Amino acid sequence: MRDALISALTYPRSVVRESVLPEDCPHNRSFDCEDHRCLTCEFEVECLWLCRNDEFAALQLRPLTDLVDALEFSLGYVQRRIDEPRHNIAKCGCATCAWSRQAEVLIEAFRNA
Ligand SMILES: [Zn+2]
Repeated sequence: MRDALISALTYPRSVVRESVLPEDCPHNRSFDCEDHRCLTCEFEVECLWLCRNDEFAALQLRPLTDLVDALEFSLGYVQRRIDEPRHNIAKCGCATCAWSRQAEVLIEAFRNA
């Protein structure tokens, strides 16, 4: 379960990373809770998620509920970015829709465990 959750976080990590604009970020997109600019930045939520769930975060040591919450957040995030008329999440074969279905199954499995 843990490994499946951790590997499911790989895809949204790249989506979130691409959506955060690096040009004017003084921290190279790593959230700094000491900096008031980070707390008022339009990418605060994305950046904070990224910083808590990136490759260097100690995901192996985190409670499973944390990982599921992180996955749920990213699922909502990714699904909001899907252009609905062109993608039927239930059937579409693109990477985003396929990941989205897989993430839903994982979350469901955790809730029913
Ligand atoms: Zn799709």
